[in-house]
Amino acid sequence: MAANTDREDRMTRRISRVIKGMPATDGAGVELTRIIGQPALPMLDPFLLLDAFRSDKPEDYIAGFPPHPHRGFETVTYLLEGRMRHKDNAGHEGVIEPGGIQWMTAARGIVHSEMPEQENGLLEGFQLWVNLPAAHKMDTPAYQEHPASHIPVETRDGGVSVRVITGTTSRGTRGPVVQPLTDPLYLDVTLPAGGTFVEGTPPGHNAFVYVINGPVKATDTEGNAARLERDDLGILTQGDAVMLQADGADARFLVVAGRPLQEPVARGGPFVMNTRAELQQAFQDYEQGRF
Ligand code: FE
Repeated sequence: MAANTDREDRMTRRISRVIKGMPATDGAGVELTRIIGQPALPMLDPFLLLDAFRSDKPEDYIAGFPPHPHRGFETVTYLLEGRMRHKDNAGHEGVIEPGGIQWMTAARGIVHSEMPEQENGLLEGFQLWVNLPAAHKMDTPAYQEHPASHIPVETRDGGVSVRVITGTTSRGTRGPVVQPLTDPLYLDVTLPAGGTFVEGTPPGHNAFVYVINGPVKATDTEGNAARLERDDLGILTQGDAVMLQADGADARFLVVAGRPLQEPVARGGPFVMNTRAELQQAFQDYEQGRF
């Protein structure tokens, strides 16, 4: 067993594909970039969608996302800049601020709005959709919300810093969000030029890197390197670690991993279920006000 474990310990993931985002318009006319959930990458189980938004032009974001439903999965909003107000049909309301995370488990259903709490300036952030297993799609909705001050920042030698939203690093820093169903890892890593980040990623999890500022170089166990530019998503192969370097300039990137559910996916707009019948039921329940 020991020899086997040693060998697995050295299985650094490499980049299997580089995905460029696709311009998209959603909500009442918000301009964003769709990275997961587009033809080049329909999903990366358990991740159903990744949108990035970054604009200092109010006309790109001011219309926001007026009331709309979700069922069957979780929406994860992480803001880098700007403020976003959310409000749901159960009376839950709040503002997400820079560095803050909202991990919303829509489960059996939430109707909510997501509107910019600003009339100008930069709005930058991400929304990730994380699937729920069949047995939990109809659970009671729940929120895990944390301002920047609740998110631990692990500081390493050489100016490396890691904001841990969920999951636990190899040095024991634990993020505040807990989701045992997919056991996600969500890290926001900052590296000075030339800096290196090495971290474990749970074996069997699907994983990706998204470059906020780059370029970033990924190197696997055999020494193969791939380069990711700003706004590239790199799909990682299986393995149990990542090694990422800031390639010539300061870098910032997300490292996200989750346990694949390996279940059938039936998706239609804001609903993600397992079968067409469950999807039809979701539309019917929403139209008849049962959310
Ligand atoms: Fe939403």
